[in-house]
Amino acid sequence: MPTQPTDIIEPLSLATQRRTLSGQLPVAELPRLVPLLRAESGDVAFELDFDKDPVGAPFVKGTVRAVVTLQCQRCMQEMVCPITANINLGIVRNREAVGQLSSELDPLMLSDGDVSAASIVEDELILALPIVAMHEVADCPRGDLAENEGDSMSGSERKKPFAALADLMNQDKP
Ligand SMILES: [Zn+2]
Repeated sequence: MPTQPTDIIEPLSLATQRRTLSGQLPVAELPRLVPLLRAESGDVAFELDFDKDPVGAPFVKGTVRAVVTLQCQRCMQEMVCPITANINLGIVRNREAVGQLSSELDPLMLSDGDVSAASIVEDELILALPIVAMHEVADCPRGDLAENEGDSMSGSERKKPFAALADLMNQDKP
């Protein structure tokens, strides 16, 4: 039985045994995730439930929670980002079997190589990262640049220039 999240596991036998793997591991131990982050601090908490559906198809469901440090693409400073990902994977031996999965499952393909709890968790975190990381405008030191971002602005932000104009006009009144 695995004692560390990085230990190699046998997903099919875990599904047969209806095992749950849960634990915690440092972000720094996820080598494919770390290069995508601004800092390798933080921990990942996970729970993976291995089971089979009523027709015997093996799957793993669970959750991954982490707080990662990204780089805000507006101000280029650190941005702490909590990430929660739900795991819904159908365990398949090879690519040919992927087509038989129900639509709500992504494949966990055993032919892709060794699997560990950490490798499953890492894949899900990478998928869950925001495509463009940015602070909320109010929280960003360069939130003033948001006026040039067009579609990413909220309706209330868009109105601001007019509000400022109205203030200016009021000031001009005698
Ligand atoms: Zn920022």
